[in-house]
Amino acid sequence: MSATVALIGLGNMGTPMARRLVDAGSSVRGHDLSEVARERLRDGGGIPTATAADAAAGANAVILMLPSSVVVDAVVDDLLAAGAIGTDALLVDMSSSEPARTQALAVRVEAAGVAFADAPVSGGVRGAERGALTIMLGARDRDRERAHALLAPLGRVVDCGDVGAGHAVKALNNLLSATHLWATGEAIEAGRRFGLDPAVVIDVVNGSSGRSGSTEVKWPTYVLPGTFDSGFALRLMLKDMRIAASLADGVGMPSPLADLAISLWSEAADALPADADHTRVAEWIAARGDA
Ligand code: NAD
Repeated sequence: MSATVALIGLGNMGTPMARRLVDAGSSVRGHDLSEVARERLRDGGGIPTATAADAAAGANAVILMLPSSVVVDAVVDDLLAAGAIGTDALLVDMSSSEPARTQALAVRVEAAGVAFADAPVSGGVRGAERGALTIMLGARDRDRERAHALLAPLGRVVDCGDVGAGHAVKALNNLLSATHLWATGEAIEAGRRFGLDPAVVIDVVNGSSGRSGSTEVKWPTYVLPGTFDSGFALRLMLKDMRIAASLADGVGMPSPLADLAISLWSEAADALPADADHTRVAEWIAARGDA
C-alpha cells in the first residue's frame, strides 16, 4: 500500500518492519524514546519524529510495536487526548499485548472515531527482516481488507477473529514456544551429561516426533552456536506467558503446566541480566543442575 504510515516503537522488531514498509513504497514516519532507534529509522529511509503525535498526524495508518499493554495504553491515550490520529486512519497494535486490555482500548479508540485492529506477529527479527512474519489479525470485518493491504509487506496475515483475537493467539503461541524451549533444554542437558552430542540429539529429534520450533530453529540457530542473539528478550517472553495464563484463568481453564513454566522462567529471569535474550534459558537450565 502506498501510504503514509506512522510506526511507534522502533526496537528490535519495529526497525526491520519500518524498513520493509519503506521498501514496499510507504512513507514511514517513526517515533521511539531512543534517539539511536530514531536515527536507525533515518538510515532505513524513514522519517524520525520527536513525538508520537508528530508521527501520527496525517498518517493513513498508525502501527504500534511497543513492549506491553501498559505502554500501548499510555501512548494511545496520549494520542487520543491530543486528537493526533485522523478519523480516516487505522490504528494497529502489533505489539504482543493483553487481549482484554486490547478490547477495552478498542472501545476508547473507536469512540474517538478511529478504526482499530490488533496484529501481533511471530517469526522474530529474522522474519521481520525478510517480510516473513506470521501476522495474527484481530479486526472488525469492516477494517479487515485495509488491514490486509497495510500488513501484506510484513508477512502472511491470518484472520483470527474480532478485535483481541490476534493478541489471544499470540500469547498462547508463546506459552507453547516457551514450554517447548524449557523442555528441550532439560532433554538436551540430560543427554549431554549421559555423553550424547547435543547436535546429534537435535538432528535426530528434528526427524522425529519430539521436534518443535525450539529444536528446528532456536537450538540450531542461537543455542548450539552459542550466539544467543535471537533479538527477543527473556522478559518479553515471560510477559507473554503471563498473558496466556491469565487468559486461561479468565475462561476457567486450569493450566498447571503453564503455572510451572512461568515459575521456572521467572527463576531464570531473576538470575539473568535484565536484557538477556530468551534463548539464554538453555544455558540457565544447564547451569541450574550444577547448583
Ligand atoms: P524492544 O524492547 O526491542 O523495542 C521496544 C521499543 O519501544 C524500544 O525501542 C523502546 O525504546 C520503545 N518504547 C518504549 N516505550 C515507548 C514509548 N512510550 N514511546 C515510544 N517508544 C517507546 O522490543 P521488541 O523485541 O521490538 O518487541 C516489541 C513488541 O513485539 C513486544 O510486545 C514483543 O513482545 C513483541 N515481539 C517481539 C519479537 C522479537 O523477536 N523481538 C517477536 C514477536 C513479537
